[in-house]
Amino acid sequence: MREKIEIVQGDITKQKVDAIVNAANNSLLGGGGVDGAIHRAAGPDLLRETRTLGGCPTGEARVSKGYRLPAKWVIHTVGPIWQGGNSNEEELLASCYRNCFKAATDLGIKTIAFPSISTGAYGFPLKRAAKIALRETATFLETNQDLEKIVFVCFGKEVFDVYNQTLEDVISSLGH
Ligand code: ADP
Repeated sequence: MREKIEIVQGDITKQKVDAIVNAANNSLLGGGGVDGAIHRAAGPDLLRETRTLGGCPTGEARVSKGYRLPAKWVIHTVGPIWQGGNSNEEELLASCYRNCFKAATDLGIKTIAFPSISTGAYGFPLKRAAKIALRETATFLETNQDLEKIVFVCFGKEVFDVYNQTLEDVISSLGH
């Protein structure tokens, strides 16, 4: 399980994986942060396609092609906006990860890269978000053998350090 999880510091648009995950907004029409970077790197055909998808509710995921990206697919998911923790934010964020894994297995792919969903403009506390991301990943890997590599692409050293520490915590709490 552990050997399938990779934590790297870098830019998700450069990842050579089958699919990258986009932390999108409900419109799927592009935005700032990682969403803007993905649209810029993929080129205008990405927006042409996402316009046809009819948006995406928070916690769900939608698939498009990757166009000029090294990744063949983009899985767009919409994380919750942090509102203090009593608005189902944790469950909605967990549901983003679960729905991305479901989309990945439906596509039949082997490798996927995630950004740290909701922890930029949407304000979700980083450590709590990392715990949810890595717990959902560990749970998925316990029952599913389809994915060979799951990469967490951390934009900056702070995110990278938090993900590494959290992975140790999650693995020891699972007894692996
Ligand atoms: P959200 O609206 O879901 O909070 P953001 O894009 O604002 O999404 O931030 C999510 C995370 O993505 C943050 O940690 C941010 O620093 C990071 N990020 C921004 N650009 C990139 C990129 N090119 N590759 C990977 N992560 C990125």
